[in-house]
Amino acid sequence: MTQIQLYSTLTRTKTPFTPIDEKLVRMYVCGPTVYDFAHIGNARPVLVFDTLFRLLRHVYGEKHVVYARNITDVDDKINARAAEMDISIRELTEQTALQFTADVSALNALPPSFEPRATEHIVHMIAMIEALITKGFAYVAEGHVLFQVSTCKNYGALSNRALDEMLAGARVEVAPYKRDAMDFVLWKPSDTQTPGWDSPWGFGRPGWHIECSAMAKAYLGEVFDIHAGGLDLIFPHHENEIAQSCCANGTHEFARYWLHNGFLQVEGEKMSKSLGNFFTIRQLLDAHPAEAIRLCMLMTHYRQPLNWTEKSLQEAINTLDDWYGAIGDVHAGEMPHDALNALADDLNTPKAIAELHVLKTLANKGDNTAKAALKAAANMMGLLQLTQTQWRAARNAHIQLDAAQVEALIAARTQARASKNWAESDRIRADLNALNIEVRDNTDGTVSWQVKA
Ligand code: AMP
Ligand code: ZN
Repeated sequence: MTQIQLYSTLTRTKTPFTPIDEKLVRMYVCGPTVYDFAHIGNARPVLVFDTLFRLLRHVYGEKHVVYARNITDVDDKINARAAEMDISIRELTEQTALQFTADVSALNALPPSFEPRATEHIVHMIAMIEALITKGFAYVAEGHVLFQVSTCKNYGALSNRALDEMLAGARVEVAPYKRDAMDFVLWKPSDTQTPGWDSPWGFGRPGWHIECSAMAKAYLGEVFDIHAGGLDLIFPHHENEIAQSCCANGTHEFARYWLHNGFLQVEGEKMSKSLGNFFTIRQLLDAHPAEAIRLCMLMTHYRQPLNWTEKSLQEAINTLDDWYGAIGDVHAGEMPHDALNALADDLNTPKAIAELHVLKTLANKGDNTAKAALKAAANMMGLLQLTQTQWRAARNAHIQLDAAQVEALIAARTQARASKNWAESDRIRADLNALNIEVRDNTDGTVSWQVKA
């Protein structure tokens, strides 16, 4: 059996992955809060951990891997957005969850084994909070239930922070009902405008962290193998999940391996609406073939920061052109060892992609085993799932879509040249180059263009 190695944030080392039960490997990934279209950064954990899911299924067998990814459908961001859009909270969460599913399945993410919604697990959350109160880890104050961080022995182990330092550094404007600044909300009161459920502490709603603790337990048990999400979730979300789960369940551990993906930036900058470099998955899918988006995401190792650029997307398209061209319509063969070992080494997708390039060279020389191996390895990363004809169609559909944009750039370039603004015309040519468009200045003064072969 292939030995997978995983880097865990908890131990800060890469160690051999040994599941608690080989016949039931269990993984939980924090899913989206459904209030708006998911952005391209949100797609990163989905695609990275989907690739891990595929690898685990390959190594342990499809029936022996359970993957839960939740949908957070109760959250104050949702309430605010629904009010802003003047639609009901339910309408907003339903439509956003559907959009999310459509977007990530377009990117070839397999459906998780379970996709629990927070609102369907309120009873589990209430039960867990009751256990925390009974055992002395939580207290009730002014309709709120708070987790008392100072009662939890290992608090700070995941994020590598010392509790006393955190307390000293905590902001001063702390809610008056908190015993300690670091105490966090398990339950809070709702008014008639906000979603709420009856509880022993009155009408209210859960805090975000307890949602994941309760859902993970409901589907995976008290202690399971892998818990994952983006880097920003280490603190406080995952730290709090561990505290709640261990204290409520009376266990000394919650998940064995904690995996975190690095952040995605766009063209070297933090993605933000105000900078105008914010893309939803849907916008990217409208403009580019889905497999190119997926490949582009996997070209960087998941723990590294990822710089999303038009250039890297173009590189992904070219790579797929090469691979599809090399394999024709071959059936997938055996999974090649080198690519498998790369993926097993803490999901080293850039290394696996390099191995695929090696296979491509062999395939281009007519090596049929290499063709079948290339297809198998790409499939394991959720790539090369189309026929060659389908790929060409997908690719050309998007090129057609961009024709108007290309024409506009060429017109702007012609104008820049007419006014002898060479810097501007060079800049536009670089843009066109990035779009893989070749421009030809004809002797009769007209300009023609084509997609580079
Ligand atoms: P959210 O809906 O904001 O809670 O995020 C859902 C998931 O997307 C979490 O695992 C986040 O860590 C992850 N995420 C959000 N923004 C980015 C980003 N720019 N790059 C990578 N992951 C991100
Ligand atoms: Zn979570």
